[in-house]
Amino acid sequence: MVELSPVVQQLEEPMTIGMSRKSRELAATGVNVISLSLGEPDFDTPDFIKESAKQAIDQNYSHYTPVAGYPELLKAVCTKFKRDNNLEYQPQQILVSTGAKQSLANAILTLVGPGDEVIIPAPYWVTYFELVKLAGGKPVVVGSTVETDFKVSAQKLESAITEKTKVIMFSSPCNPSGAVYSHSELSEWAKVLENYPKITVISDEIYELINYKGKHVSFASLPGMYERTLTINGLSKGYAMTGWRLGYMAGPADIIRACDKVQGQFTSGTCSITQRAAITALEASTDKVQYMIDTFTRRKKLTFDLLSEIPGLKLSNPEGAFYMYPDVSHYFGKSFNGSKISNSLDLSMYLLEEGHVATVPGDAFGTPENIRLSFAASDENIVEAVRRIKSALSNLK
Ligand code: PLP
Repeated sequence: MVELSPVVQQLEEPMTIGMSRKSRELAATGVNVISLSLGEPDFDTPDFIKESAKQAIDQNYSHYTPVAGYPELLKAVCTKFKRDNNLEYQPQQILVSTGAKQSLANAILTLVGPGDEVIIPAPYWVTYFELVKLAGGKPVVVGSTVETDFKVSAQKLESAITEKTKVIMFSSPCNPSGAVYSHSELSEWAKVLENYPKITVISDEIYELINYKGKHVSFASLPGMYERTLTINGLSKGYAMTGWRLGYMAGPADIIRACDKVQGQFTSGTCSITQRAAITALEASTDKVQYMIDTFTRRKKLTFDLLSEIPGLKLSNPEGAFYMYPDVSHYFGKSFNGSKISNSLDLSMYLLEEGHVATVPGDAFGTPENIRLSFAASDENIVEAVRRIKSALSNLK
């Protein structure tokens, strides 16, 4: 047996992917499983974007592209930032990647070295923690609970800062909690950070368009934050393009240049066809994808109302993304047929095996009292899944 590298040995498989594999395995045995475990829109990519990809194939966009992306795409990204976020970027401040996941990996590998600390407010997206470990850094988790709507105060953030803090990394709207930081909450963070000029902020804004609260706040738009923020975004969530693999990053030109170097050794530029389609997507008005947001808004209410009827769940009402993140700790210590539920992993497994609903345990996101359910599913599946969850939970004694 080949001995794997220490880096790989310490790397975890994302629990989100693990849960969907388990639910597929169960479904393969003939069980009707409803999956609320995946983090992607259940819509197909809009036709106007697909058409432009078809044209790109016919126009022979089939060669390697510049590592950072086609110049027209970099320009379209700059225009998007100006139009939607009132942020001025030049093309040399943009790097397009194979998904926002690669943008995040580029950023962490570029900024974080052995021993550097990275503050990650919890709950966090699974990959943040593993990327920091991969770079030899130390993830410093700052927790939050349903009682504070899964938000971390500026004061709490500051108490985690040390001389070794290199980066703060967060998503708003947040996967998994759906929390959206307000302008004033982020301004409080920015005020604290003014005292720590060496810290870089990685602001993951991939759920920008899926926002039920109102206008999105880009962290880089806050006073003094432009020069030290890397903004991550992409097409996966807002444009229903998860499989196309396109993310992008904006920030100081020197960091972008360094990230370009990293990407140049790993993957080079992302798919040429995807890039041409991305130009069309980003140049269009965001009104063109509003129908998806409207649907998520309705389903959020449906899911929230149904889950509210289940005794013992503590819920926050998400302001963005497409997840519910109930605190399920009321059920810890209860049993079914002699098997005890000790934590959210046990509960998720129980809901899968007994309720035939796939969810993701909060352990994956750094808050083990919770489970994540995606409401990017049909109304019919949401209603049936919550009925099953309610019934399975009522059997726990
Ligand atoms: N950031 C967050 C918070 C996400 O939830 C995801 C996908 O689940 C990503 C980044 C990665 O998105 P992409 O598909 O662009 O790699």
